[in-house]
Amino acid sequence: MNIHEYQAKQVLSSFGVPVPRGHVAFTADEAVKAAEDLGGPVWVVKSQIHAGGRGKGGGVSVVKSIDEVRAEASRMLGMTLVTHQTGPEGKEVGRVYIEDGSDIARELYLSALVDRATSRVSFIASTEGGMDIEEVAEKTPEKIITVSVDPAGGISGHHARQIAFALGLEGDQIKQANALISNLYKAFVEKDMSLLEINPLVVTGAGDLICLDAKVNFDSNALYRQKDIVELRDLAEEDPAEIEASKYDLSYIKLDGKIGCMVNGAGLAMATMDIIKLYGSEPANFLDVGGGATKEKVTEAFKIILSDDSVEGILVNIFGGIMRCDIIAEGVVAAAKELSLEVPLVVRLEGTNVDEGKEIMANSGLPIIAADNLNDAAEKIVAAVKEAA
Ligand code: ADP
Ligand code: MG
Repeated sequence: MNIHEYQAKQVLSSFGVPVPRGHVAFTADEAVKAAEDLGGPVWVVKSQIHAGGRGKGGGVSVVKSIDEVRAEASRMLGMTLVTHQTGPEGKEVGRVYIEDGSDIARELYLSALVDRATSRVSFIASTEGGMDIEEVAEKTPEKIITVSVDPAGGISGHHARQIAFALGLEGDQIKQANALISNLYKAFVEKDMSLLEINPLVVTGAGDLICLDAKVNFDSNALYRQKDIVELRDLAEEDPAEIEASKYDLSYIKLDGKIGCMVNGAGLAMATMDIIKLYGSEPANFLDVGGGATKEKVTEAFKIILSDDSVEGILVNIFGGIMRCDIIAEGVVAAAKELSLEVPLVVRLEGTNVDEGKEIMANSGLPIIAADNLNDAAEKIVAAVKEAA
């Protein structure tokens, strides 16, 4: 789960991490009030969307008067901001953050993530802050260092010193870095973050460290024990179909292709997507209906797939283990009837009671195309979509 920059800064601040003062605003009037409260003389008006690259896209403005705060807040609120992370369709700005302007001497990069290679939390640091870290990694990888923290020992002074040294910090900044890094680590672990990115972390003209940007992702499997974080969810930032899917405990992610997929098990879902590509088409979504695919879940899954206008055909690929194939077939038939399906549907069932399942589909009176294996299924749906087009 993602949250906005201003929310991330609130969370970090509660762990003692230094961030600029600021207030969120939903209207230009609120922005002006926020700016008056902060007092200036320099403010930054920042669009709040769940994507980075806002600065380059016109979503961050440094201003020096209340009139400019009003003008920039009015310009940003309601606009569609396109950055390299939003995709070409962009994201609508519903709130802005009004923040104290900082006097920047140096912009650095610092992030923490769950590093699958080492099974540890790793910090990534670079002197090249404020830019795309992907670009730095590609062009000047020697300017990035990684420091992993053994979960048994936790964070300690030597991790922080290693990072501070790589960032070229000196004197009191090393002490500040020590506190900042250990507080970031504490926030990361206690709040079940999966990614924490401070880009830029800046050294101010006065020589102090402060986090000017903050991007945080949380491990969605841990949200059950992070009630205060769940409150920060902004549904306007999420795909409506994905929100609907989460209500029914379906794992759904919209993609760009035209073949809707309904599969049980994440591994099988990945394999199904791969094989659709192999046969020359593209999946319209990732959808894992889970182990207990009931008739209700199957119907909801169909509705969600069909709510996507780009879907031109559906491939159901289900392994009936605990859930029997005949039950799944009943669910598929009922859903297809209820939704008066107009696109080709290929179903591949395997597992317990597969023959009964196939019989139910064959006798349904619906134009369901049965498939015997994964190859056959992918080939058939790709062909059927081509033919229907
Ligand atoms: P994004 O990463 O989405 O572009 P940032 O928050 O990193 O957004 O802002 C982009 C740039 O704007 C920063 O690299 C920094 O140079 C400048 N900036 C952001 N916040 C402030 C601030 N409070 N004071 C001064 N400059 C800022
Ligand atoms: Mg940034």
